[in-house]
Amino acid sequence: MKEVRVRFAPSPTGALHIGGVRTALYNYLFAKKNNGTFILRIEDTDQTRFVEGAEKYIYDALAWLGINPDESELKPGKFGPYKQSERKPIYFKYAQQLLDEGKAYYAFDTAEELDAMRQRLQDAGATATTYNAISRMTMKNSLTLSAEEVKQRIDSGEQYVIRLKVPQKEDIRLNDLVRSWVVVHSSSIDDKVLMKSDGMPTYHLANVVDDHLMEITHVIRGEEWLPSAPLHVLLYRFLGWEDSMPQFAHLPLLLKPDGNGKLSKRAADQLGFPIFPLNWNDPVSGELSEGFKEKGYRKEALTNFLALLGWNAGTEQELFTLEELVNAFSLDRIVKSGARFDIEKAKWFNQQYLRKEDVTLLANELLPLLKEKGIECDLNKAQTYVELMLERITFLHEVYTSAPFLFNAPTTYDEKVAEKKWNNECEEAFKSFNDILSSISPFSSEQIHDRLVNLLETKGIKMGKVMQSLRLAITGEGSGPDLMKMMEILGVSETQNRIQNAITALKKYT
Ligand code: GLU
Repeated sequence: MKEVRVRFAPSPTGALHIGGVRTALYNYLFAKKNNGTFILRIEDTDQTRFVEGAEKYIYDALAWLGINPDESELKPGKFGPYKQSERKPIYFKYAQQLLDEGKAYYAFDTAEELDAMRQRLQDAGATATTYNAISRMTMKNSLTLSAEEVKQRIDSGEQYVIRLKVPQKEDIRLNDLVRSWVVVHSSSIDDKVLMKSDGMPTYHLANVVDDHLMEITHVIRGEEWLPSAPLHVLLYRFLGWEDSMPQFAHLPLLLKPDGNGKLSKRAADQLGFPIFPLNWNDPVSGELSEGFKEKGYRKEALTNFLALLGWNAGTEQELFTLEELVNAFSLDRIVKSGARFDIEKAKWFNQQYLRKEDVTLLANELLPLLKEKGIECDLNKAQTYVELMLERITFLHEVYTSAPFLFNAPTTYDEKVAEKKWNNECEEAFKSFNDILSSISPFSSEQIHDRLVNLLETKGIKMGKVMQSLRLAITGEGSGPDLMKMMEILGVSETQNRIQNAITALKKYT
């Protein structure tokens, strides 16, 4: 078998969408599984859609996720340049070949003339209002004008495009690895522009030429490109490359969480989840979109989640490292039907990976998050926070956001809990407890627990009757993480202060 070579070919027209990340991931997994090569090619021929920073963003996003290209502009192999804007002369050569062989032609029509053509066809009730085998004969192109006139127009600097001469009546077939046979009649394809008047190739020409020259064996891309595939097959045939044409695998659409319609930035914004892997500061609108990374998703969780959007291993296994994904991956397990972008599932993955993570590593990550909130602490302390909260959180920053009482004494108390639970007996018990706190040594959760149990016993108070009130005093809330552990972390004097504060603040309930 030929060496597997696949490519991810994004256009840098904005931030890389999460769907693009999935495409990159599938290409990567397939390449690695087959000891092949994963190529990153930047498709930047549409200069009107150039967006500052978009190219760097693609590199940064893939680097974060560990989806590392074997060949790219930054790591050139022998198939470069890997950026289409730097390959202009190459495309011209093949456009010329198609012209010479009568498979493409020059067209000089202005935008107004094209509009007029469409209008004319529409008024006449034509089914197709495109530039095609029939309508081309009524237009200004090298099929209708004399050779001298064509030459003269070009020599005088008139703007022109090069169009593909699509056959009028022909079935074009391709055997997609996901969708199986796709048959399209050539009459439904228009005479696509191959070279634009600015001298740049269109996506179709550049994509096919590059896939051929870069010896791509499998084109794995989003379903939105399926309608273009027959045209690409035609181009391979016209260029004489049909025998070495890559195989196609079009990935299923990503759907909104409720399964209704395509996943879009708008839908994600509305539902409050990210659509881009990293923060994106849109240079045009100035809008800042928070990325999965900044939102607190771990890269392992995101790749695992994305891998299962449209593919499954055929087993019950859900948690896969990147390496395990590589081993398990195959194109024949990609599904046809759209994949629901279930963000709750993404959160579940995050929770799982958070719990598997090394606690010291998490503590190190927590430090800057706390610093942002104005909280300084050392690594040991951060580690105790992580240990206390790990089973209760989905994102690391929730150590702070879901347990603010770890860092600041409560200023209010849950009224409902106070009303139900706080009473004379509690006040009495907590006063005594406060008195003995400084004698508890070491001030560990076990010791604190044992001494509290003793104390309550001597007073004849049931533990269950006061525990929630003690929690209320320490946190202001009726539920939360391990109370004894929390007191240990807070230390003697902070615990004492909080109990004292609560006794004063909750006087009215006694
Ligand atoms: N440049 C196209 C894109 O932005 C690539 C499509 C393909 O993979 O052929 O998605």
